[in-house]
Amino acid sequence: MPSPILRLALPSPLRRLFDYRAPMGVPPSALRPGVRLRVPFGRRELVGVLVELAETTDVPENKLKPALELLDVEPVLPGEVLALCQWTAQYYQHSLGDTLSWALPTLLRQGEPAEARQERYWHAAPDARLDDPRLARAPRQREALRALAQHPHGVHHALLSKLQLSKDSLDLLLAKGLVTIEVRRSQPVRHQGSWLLQPELVLNDEQRLAVESVRAGFGGFQAFLLAGVTGSGKTEVYLQLIHQALEAGRQALVLIPEINLGPQTLERFARRFNARIALLHSGLNDRERLDAWLAARDGEADIVIGTRSALFTPLKNPGLIIVDEEHDAAYKQQEGLRYHARDLAVVRARQDKVPVLLGSATPSLESLHNAHAGRYALLRLNRRAGGASAPRFLRLDVKSRPLDAGLSMPLQQAIGQTLAAGQQVLVFLNRRGFAPTLLCHDCGWLAQCSRCDARMTLHQRANELRCHHCGHVERPPSNCPKCRHVDLRPVGAGTERAEERLALLFPDYPVLRIDRDSTSRKGAMEQLFATINRGEPCLLVGTQMLAKGHHFPRVTLVAVLDADGGLFSADFRASERMAQLIVQVAGRAGRAEEPGKVIIQTHLADHPLLVQLTEDGYFAFAEQALSERRAAGLPPFSHLALLRAEAHRPGQAEAFLDEACSQAERLTAELGLPGIELLGPVPAPMERRAGRYRAQLLLQGSARPPLQRLLTRWLPEVEQLPGARAVRWSIDVDPIDLF
Ligand code: ADP
Ligand code: ZN
Ligand code: ZN
Repeated sequence: MPSPILRLALPSPLRRLFDYRAPMGVPPSALRPGVRLRVPFGRRELVGVLVELAETTDVPENKLKPALELLDVEPVLPGEVLALCQWTAQYYQHSLGDTLSWALPTLLRQGEPAEARQERYWHAAPDARLDDPRLARAPRQREALRALAQHPHGVHHALLSKLQLSKDSLDLLLAKGLVTIEVRRSQPVRHQGSWLLQPELVLNDEQRLAVESVRAGFGGFQAFLLAGVTGSGKTEVYLQLIHQALEAGRQALVLIPEINLGPQTLERFARRFNARIALLHSGLNDRERLDAWLAARDGEADIVIGTRSALFTPLKNPGLIIVDEEHDAAYKQQEGLRYHARDLAVVRARQDKVPVLLGSATPSLESLHNAHAGRYALLRLNRRAGGASAPRFLRLDVKSRPLDAGLSMPLQQAIGQTLAAGQQVLVFLNRRGFAPTLLCHDCGWLAQCSRCDARMTLHQRANELRCHHCGHVERPPSNCPKCRHVDLRPVGAGTERAEERLALLFPDYPVLRIDRDSTSRKGAMEQLFATINRGEPCLLVGTQMLAKGHHFPRVTLVAVLDADGGLFSADFRASERMAQLIVQVAGRAGRAEEPGKVIIQTHLADHPLLVQLTEDGYFAFAEQALSERRAAGLPPFSHLALLRAEAHRPGQAEAFLDEACSQAERLTAELGLPGIELLGPVPAPMERRAGRYRAQLLLQGSARPPLQRLLTRWLPEVEQLPGARAVRWSIDVDPIDLF
């Protein structure tokens, strides 16, 4: 019988598998899908994952190379996760090999063994003697050996320094064969005793209905949308459901949008549960990440919490998937494999036959649409739990009112009163830096990024002009580069400017700025939160970072400095995003006894969407926004895919997209695919970024299947276009950002 052909996924952008012969001496029974192999690839070696075995190949006999080495005894990826990756690669039109690279921990991608941390213990060699002549002139090594010999069970590597054993001496002893290292696999901790460390809260009726509905779905697939206003006790619902899953001997996977929320979530879970919790976050080193991944795979972690990529974590006994803040755009990856972790969570839950719970105070229009269509069961929590009342909204018309660093007089007064009453104020402004523009008052020169079609943001504290699109940084000029005059003025306000102004207006109160710049230092966030939690009156100024899930019980006034951007943007999702931000940031107010107030500064105080949002709430807004989307034939009532390209020379990206567009037109006709429109190619809204000229071609389909069929046939042809190697291009299925 001829040996089978191995079909491998390799880390390559090409949308295909690669054929190899089995490595020498490996029995066919060891070649199971999901094992990794090291293979020659051009002049390099790559680690690939075996996807399937075949009997024939198109590769000529003399070109077919044997794989070099089989790396796993057991498939490293359980079948379900491999299947999920295959689904993902297919749906997002991405190479399977690269998809697997996103799903696998780095060490596994590099070919390291799929084994948990090896603990190292140092021992004195059994025949080592203190009077060994090789130690005669090495007193320190002799001392080290003497000390080590007192520990017949060996000394754990991490404890060497505690026992004042010098690593250098030990290394020398090791070289002489006088000490040995024993490698032991760390013992997995077993779960024992009750799951609960603290009693569960008594649920209110809405919460109980939610818990009971999901619980009734245990053991099978069902998707739930938990739409609960801010502070309505969604987290308590999650906790009680996780408890049920644990009692049933199953694991829970919890996705959170941002790792900043990780410690907070972890703390709340750890206070509640006597359970093994794995937190997968970007701060882990490669080894820690692999250990956490393996613990989840082998059933040694009961609860797995992580950001979007944790979706691919294998689970031995999956029982429940939760996606918190499901509306958050952070679930969509914007580079490489452009997947949406919330959507994939639903796919995974179906495959794992478990319920999936999507939670948010401001559900995405997509999810609401799915709920209306009956695909998701809608669970509502309309009241705040624990007696807090909903915040009151006030639209403050700032037309023709003077603004001082973005702050109108009535707003300043309201802030002053709140602080005087001993309460905290949150000022929301979704723009970092001091000012978004630096302008010459004499000639109108504007500080532009030399590499982008964009203005540079002035960061006064750092004395820098920064481009928020490409990261380019310059010193601000002291006089105008064009007319040499010195009257350069910052125009508009960012968080830095608001902070500076508020500190002058309210000198008796601390002003805390919370944005990416002020929290980049390790521990800075914790420090800021510690100050806020002390509860003394203070001002918080920040970007959307403040809107996310935090609990600030002493904040009673929230000010939104500028709501207008979301109301007249070219991006059809801008109003949805603005509404979500306003509601989320408003939700930080009045979470305890005192009621909260939200002041929204706007020039469009009568805008119907804004009126609806502030008077009737998010769900009324969402219905209105959905009916506008339906009328315009926009998602979720149609489906999009975006082919992007960028190149160094102007026109090059568009020329490539023109050819791709002709291919797509021909295929659509050939295959008789209905309801597909090709829009473009057109230059991207910001045509030049980081020195490259960008263009895009938008595909819109009234139904998903024809669009998917077209993409599957089309992209391999696009790959073959002569221009495909001269430009950088990518496909984005269900893009959420059209820029
Ligand atoms: P959400 O996640 O919806 O924003 P949380 O779960 O954080 O809301 O709950 C808000 C506050 O209400 C928390 O302090 C929580 O402890 C409290 N809470 C939640 N459910 C209940 C309940 N059933 N009874 C009393 N307090 C509750
Ligand atoms: Zn000038
Ligand atoms: Zn730039």
